[in-house]
Amino acid sequence: MATRRKLVAGNWKMHKTVSEARAYARELVDALRERGAGCEVVVAPPFTALAAVAEALRDAPIGVAAQDVFWEPHGAYTGEISPPMLKEVGCTYVIVGHSERRQYFGETNRSVGKKIRACQREGLAPIFCVGETLEQRERGITFPIVREQLLVGLEEAESTNPDRLVIAYEPVWAIGTGKTATPEQAQEVHHFIRSQLAASRNGLSEAVRILYGGSVKPSNAKNLFTCEDIDGGLVGGASLKKEEFLGIVYSGFDTD
Ligand code: PEP
Repeated sequence: MATRRKLVAGNWKMHKTVSEARAYARELVDALRERGAGCEVVVAPPFTALAAVAEALRDAPIGVAAQDVFWEPHGAYTGEISPPMLKEVGCTYVIVGHSERRQYFGETNRSVGKKIRACQREGLAPIFCVGETLEQRERGITFPIVREQLLVGLEEAESTNPDRLVIAYEPVWAIGTGKTATPEQAQEVHHFIRSQLAASRNGLSEAVRILYGGSVKPSNAKNLFTCEDIDGGLVGGASLKKEEFLGIVYSGFDTD
């Protein structure tokens, strides 16, 4: 069985000004330097703070992700940010297809697919989010929904090389609600995702990391991260507070 290094990524969403983000990044670096290397840690600040956070994290064991991207490299696309722009400011990951983008900003499986391809072409690794709504879970269509998201999203992907792709299973009903999927519920879908990767793309499915996202906290992280197909977490609310985020990161260290 492939060994997959645990990854904990903090999605700061639309929180923190540049100065707040820089100060917080420095606090995280200090804390993690003391503790030493363990699982991989990534933070995703808002666009405005990416350069400052990347600078604060230079030479530190914490990577930087953007929360979204547009698929064209440049052009007349007012308000958009391209993969080369993100790369230049120091990003190595990009969150793509987050359910809030799908819900509020019209993101579709097709547009997610274009973004995945554009990221990979630039050498950025997408953290590709999939997940069902509460209504879809109650109708018993979680697997078909997730399968469709995966199939369309990865149709144009350049690569499923594990260095160039991370998947995040985020049940929409668990995001920001305080409701967490049980380890059994999450593991069931993670296993399904891995089996879909194996069916559609040969070879590397065992090595691709699949993160769980949805109200991860220090109190539930370890039980989730010890599941066979759960390789870490994508953390929203709890990533904004140092003690909580580090509590989750240390669960990743313990289960690495
Ligand atoms: C997220 O936004 O990706 C997320 C999982 O949020 P939360 O941890 O707050 O549920």
